[in-house]
Amino acid sequence: MLGKATAFCEGTRGPCTKQLVKKLGLDDGKNPQAYATGVKEVWEFEKSPLAEGHIIHTMGYPTDSKTFGSNQLAVGVITGLDYPDPTIDPHLQFCKFKQHPLIANLLKGGKVVSYGAKTNPEGGYYSIPRISMDGALICGDSAGMVAMPKLKVVHYAIKSGTRTPRSCWTSIPTASPPRPSSTTTKARPSTS
Ligand SMILES: Cc1cc2nc3c(=O)[nH]c(=O)nc-3n(C[C@H](O)[C@H](O)[C@H](O)COP(=O)(O)OP(=O)(O)OC[C@H]3O[C@@H](n4cnc5c(N)ncnc54)[C@H](O)[C@@H]3O)c2cc1C
Repeated sequence: MLGKATAFCEGTRGPCTKQLVKKLGLDDGKNPQAYATGVKEVWEFEKSPLAEGHIIHTMGYPTDSKTFGSNQLAVGVITGLDYPDPTIDPHLQFCKFKQHPLIANLLKGGKVVSYGAKTNPEGGYYSIPRISMDGALICGDSAGMVAMPKLKVVHYAIKSGTRTPRSCWTSIPTASPPRPSSTTTKARPSTS
């Protein structure tokens, strides 16, 4: 990499970030990271079945007690990847979820307009590696920035991403290699 400062924003388990963390021991003394897979669809209706801004968070069905789980309407299920039952299929869990009467009634008359699946970091504050080093910073899901109790994830990805250029820019003239500061970026999340 030729840049004086590089921001690693590859999402969860990015190939470059994984090498960086391993090579520099950035996760020394930290809890191991944990992951979940989220499967999500966006549905479109002639008239939305929910009032604008209405969000329903659910826990439990269709997961068992040993597996951690969850106009347009977005519907999704998150399955913790530490599930003990090897036959669990996150997409099948999502299909079962959509057949639950609460969700099936909401989806009546709608059509899927987009869908996708992606992993999420779940380890939280104590699984975040050191995010600032000579010539580099790690942002968002790559750093495992997540506060599960508040369901705050994308906020940290956006905040760390927007603060990073400023931090790199101010550190480049002052040191070689530059050391972008995580306190300058104010990227390290709190649990609030
Ligand atoms: C089903 C589901 C529901 C969610 N619900 C919520 C919610 O309600 N609230 C919330 O706050 N968050 C939620 N999230 C989490 C949120 O989507 C993520 O935290 C956020 O997208 C992380 O942004 P990011 O930019 O760090 O990573 P990503 O969005 O993963 O973006 C990383 C990008 O980098 C690209 N990339 C990877 N490696 C490389 C490489 N080597 N070179 C170039 N490009 C690369 C990837 O293709 C990807 O486009 C949810 C996620 C899922 C899956």
